Amino acid sequence: MSISDWTKGSDGIAYQVCGQCKAVWYFERRFCPACGTDHPATLQASGRGVIHALTLVARAPTEELRTHAPYLIVLVDAEEGFRLMAHGDPALQIGDRVFARFTQLAGHKIPYFDKV
Ligand SMILES: [Zn+2]
Repeated sequence: MSISDWTKGSDGIAYQVCGQCKAVWYFERRFCPACGTDHPATLQASGRGVIHALTLVARAPTEELRTHAPYLIVLVDAEEGFRLMAHGDPALQIGDRVFARFTQLAGHKIPYFDKV
């Protein structure tokens, strides 16, 4: 089964697990950040999680994002145990259960979280 990964253009969130110490993380690496074991497994995340923190961005950092401001940046605890930063519905609050969908922002595919 191939893994869908929004950073590679398909609708999905990938994460990695260490085969040795079972550490779980989000950004693709060649070695486990906890114990250094190589060849971690890349797995498909469900897209479900809980809002850990959020920030409403009123002043966008780039010109192309400025037309989208204000927008909400969320830190999501995925149910698989890793944490990722993404965009989300401005009505979200800390502790909300969320699910990822995929949309385009300023010409790039991004994950976007809505309340379940
Ligand atoms: Zn490890």
